[in-house]
Amino acid sequence: MQVDVAGRTDVGRVRGNNEDSFKLVPELNLFVLSDGMGGEAHGEVASSMAVEGIVAHCLEGVYNKDLPLAGNAQPDLTPRTNRLISAIRLANKQIYEAAQRDPNQKGMGATVVSIWLDGHRLCVAHVGDSRAYLMRGTDLQQITDDHSLVAEQVRRGILTKEQAAQSKMQSVLLRALGIDEEVEVDASEHLLMDGDSILLCSDGLDRMVLDEEIAATLLTSHSAQDAAQRLIQMALENGGEDNVTVVLLRVVHTEDGFLLRLWKWLNGPLEPTSEGGK
Ligand code: CA
Repeated sequence: MQVDVAGRTDVGRVRGNNEDSFKLVPELNLFVLSDGMGGEAHGEVASSMAVEGIVAHCLEGVYNKDLPLAGNAQPDLTPRTNRLISAIRLANKQIYEAAQRDPNQKGMGATVVSIWLDGHRLCVAHVGDSRAYLMRGTDLQQITDDHSLVAEQVRRGILTKEQAAQSKMQSVLLRALGIDEEVEVDASEHLLMDGDSILLCSDGLDRMVLDEEIAATLLTSHSAQDAAQRLIQMALENGGEDNVTVVLLRVVHTEDGFLLRLWKWLNGPLEPTSEGGK
């Protein structure tokens, strides 16, 4: 499957430092985003440990099929999703232990949202309130549940979505990496179709930009890079109250459409290939 992917981050217009981190590994179709928290620069430390640790464990698992999983495998999920969950559990432990060792880093933590493609299957795993959205056609759907107090209150019918969006408690997380020795990771799998877009973002985007605006931007962008840039710009224009990070992945048609085939036939190959332009 061919994908077009881009990631961008911005400190925003209020904060002094950027505590978000992201990492793109296009060779593996593995993408990770994390939003750190903690005093001084410790949020940055936590989010960077999260993305680096997760990618390292997944990479190791690719080259060493016998690499044990951290914790029990979930039998209803594929090995790839279980590897992603394992990587998040390990990153949690690493951040937790680092915070225990250094009193200055006590209380540091991070969210994480990660995706890994396996052919047409999208594996998603997350902890915290960083989100994954799937855009199919004109329909934008959040495919992760926020592990935040207000999201839980919405799920229980205590708050409406509108009340949650105004709440002063929006930052209160029910789950994050680095807080306890063990963490519960949520995971899901989805089958992708040509033309789908997947957006990962920190709350600096979804608190500043409405879902309708996100959808309109994804629909009218000509590339992942263009969409990522425009989403960041909108978050800044709407206040930029927090660090804002987006990772955008678009599934490119794997089979050439009729018009593209015709265009290629009329114009010749786009680039010379090692097979002599076949
Ligand atoms: Ca944030």
